[in-house]
Amino acid sequence: MRSKGKHVINLPRRIILGDGALEELGCCMRESGFENAVVLMSKTPLKLLGDRIRRILAGNGFSFKVMLVGDGDSFSEAKRIEKMLSFKKKREKTAVVSVGGGRVIDAGKILAWRSGLEFVSVPTVPSHDGIASPLASAPKGKRRYSFYTVMPSVIIGDVSILAVAPDRYFASGVGDLVAKYTAVRDWRLSHLLRGEYYGEYAASLAESIAERIMKCADIIAGDKFEGASILIEALIHAGVLIGIAGSSRPCSGSEHLFSHALDLVAGYPALHGEQVGIGTIMMSKLHNCDWMKIRDALSTVRAPVTAKDINVSEKKIIEALTIAHTIRPERYTILGDRGLTRKAAEELAKSTMVI
Ligand SMILES: [Zn+2]
Repeated sequence: MRSKGKHVINLPRRIILGDGALEELGCCMRESGFENAVVLMSKTPLKLLGDRIRRILAGNGFSFKVMLVGDGDSFSEAKRIEKMLSFKKKREKTAVVSVGGGRVIDAGKILAWRSGLEFVSVPTVPSHDGIASPLASAPKGKRRYSFYTVMPSVIIGDVSILAVAPDRYFASGVGDLVAKYTAVRDWRLSHLLRGEYYGEYAASLAESIAERIMKCADIIAGDKFEGASILIEALIHAGVLIGIAGSSRPCSGSEHLFSHALDLVAGYPALHGEQVGIGTIMMSKLHNCDWMKIRDALSTVRAPVTAKDINVSEKKIIEALTIAHTIRPERYTILGDRGLTRKAAEELAKSTMVI
């Protein structure tokens, strides 16, 4: 985070990736100094992995509690679980461990942040870069807000678990990664026009992540095991970049603003990365870049590329495009201060075959 000329970077202590990485959870947490764990899981991961997690933690002498994350949003679930727990004893040696998808990971980050604990991330789907970033998102009214919580101290990416996630989560992960292509262009633009802090190192890494994912689209589409391995590595790198930059700038630009606007006008119609991918196609065109390259990569992994693919009307796509610049007015992007006119939005969506 940046303040008064200082730039503080918080990074994960340990990242373990690969087939069977989950088995390392207990000893890795031990070596990181933890003795107690609060494990958050939603219904399906609890059913599939609950016994295995219990065995791994018990086998390493942990004192732990497994808490079921219900259907509520990440913030209210974190608060509900916080009330049920007492952290008085050995608080400093306790970690919050999330095993699951985006909502469970966010709930764990929020719980760890509110309770002054460290966080361990064990994703079960390769769908977005929140797996490894310090940002969590939670809805407030009709909108969703992203905010800083804690950087995960330990991240376990078990490829054999991630490889059996439904195809849609793979498509979403690719969408959230191609997004870096336009996010860094928006960031550079804001630096040039507004003098915003810009980190060349983080920006070029983010851009190379997007390029690599586009190159690997065929492998991701054809081999889920290899695909999960490529995706999880890239998503973790992207999340860590947010920690390096001290801002979500290298990973989130106008394409994310479009997705948030779509949430607002169409009520969360698809997965985060699916919406962001469609946003990236359109924002690439505004940046005068090769938007077909983005569209081709998304199509290859069977990610949605049109309004119809995500069951959203043309009108709502246009509306989202016209209000996207109002979502985070302090975040300058290619959409400018005044955004797109209705006519320009319609032309953009039509010319990129989104509508
Ligand atoms: Zn994202």
